[in-house]
Amino acid sequence: MTGMDSSSLEPFEICTIRPPTENSSLTFRLTRNCYWNRCKFCPVYKMGAVFSRRSLDEVKRDIERAKALDDLMLARGIGIPRYTRADYGRLPGLADEILRTRKKTIPEVQLHEAAAELPADVDPRLAWFFSWFNDQPSLEDSLAHLLTWRLAGGKTCFLGDADGLILKPEFLTAVLGEIRSRFPTLERFTVYGRTRTAARQRSLTDLQAMAAAGLNRVHFGLESGSDKVLAFVNKGESSAEHIEGCLKIKEAGLSCSIYIMPGLGGAGLSEEHALETARVINAIAPDFVRLRTLEIFSQTPLEKALKDGEFVECPEEQVVRELRSLISWIEAETELLSDSASNLLDLYGKLPDDRNRLLKIIDDYLDISERDKRIFSFHSRLSSFLGQYGGLPEDLYGILTPYIRGESIDMSRCPDEVLENLIRTIRSRLMP
Ligand code: SF4
Repeated sequence: MTGMDSSSLEPFEICTIRPPTENSSLTFRLTRNCYWNRCKFCPVYKMGAVFSRRSLDEVKRDIERAKALDDLMLARGIGIPRYTRADYGRLPGLADEILRTRKKTIPEVQLHEAAAELPADVDPRLAWFFSWFNDQPSLEDSLAHLLTWRLAGGKTCFLGDADGLILKPEFLTAVLGEIRSRFPTLERFTVYGRTRTAARQRSLTDLQAMAAAGLNRVHFGLESGSDKVLAFVNKGESSAEHIEGCLKIKEAGLSCSIYIMPGLGGAGLSEEHALETARVINAIAPDFVRLRTLEIFSQTPLEKALKDGEFVECPEEQVVRELRSLISWIEAETELLSDSASNLLDLYGKLPDDRNRLLKIIDDYLDISERDKRIFSFHSRLSSFLGQYGGLPEDLYGILTPYIRGESIDMSRCPDEVLENLIRTIRSRLMP
């Protein structure tokens, strides 16, 4: 195997946007981007990414490419006797080896990611998104993707992009069969879905066929159970479709994971948003409810609505009160997760059993002074920031220097205005 010919190896397309539980999954793109792409708050596909379906041949070719790269890593001793993080250091050399053998015949432009053409004033987070939307991925990305998956145990697979339920069951069955034959250690397959697709486009028989083929879970971005909020943000789905689609998924034997977005109703619809979302959750009893607090991205229609005065953002405390109402009103058995950097509080637990514990976390926050809330928010956001970036950029370090005391940061003497600005700045750089 060490003499394996690497000259014919190619990268494969990776799903950038995926649930946090799929961060270390092997991914394959069955469609590209989002055909709806009209949700006001959503920045993800707003930088010119165009929706397309991929043919079965294209997807099969990607699966073969992933398998060949995985085999090459093993042939070069990566992962032997077991995969370690140090193996990442060997990937650039491996990618170079493949590129060197191809350079004579393939134009340079095809060997590297195309440089993204972005407006100069683009939000850095949107630029980050855009840098990943790449229909010509690099070999190094593909190798790192495989290594990350191997390091995590090699058991999970996510199939993207935004709505896997638009695929015909026969297509999904063929893809799942192909993937399983090449990567037999895989145990869990998941997709994103839209509730309207599950409710209107897919029959129960279709969904049962998908489950029988090996699909395990569908992640739905419900965002809200309020029809007013859904209409305002142009979600293109109703609360009735949320309920019907999710119940159908459960009836087909698939796990149902939903995302909801505290703050999405703005100050005006905060209470309605909480109440109606609890109503929908109670009707569905999803396996998981994941919190993603609203972050308003620049260059989105929601930011325009904010500037035009059509939307009034909820202050942090109001978002927490909204969550308090939501958690108080959920009667269904479900699991709540706060697995996003956008959230202020760590609210993880089973409902209704853990309700009192979760409400205590909320009340402890609500009981502290305005000043302490600011300091709490600063530390919570900073901790998420350090988790994502591993350190402080120069500008933030400069602002924080007067408050750094050895290993910790003491903000007790920081003026309110500076604290508020710091919180805003950090939040504006976090990836939700
Ligand atoms: S359906 Fe999902 S990916 Fe598409 S625009 Fe709405 S939030 Fe974004």
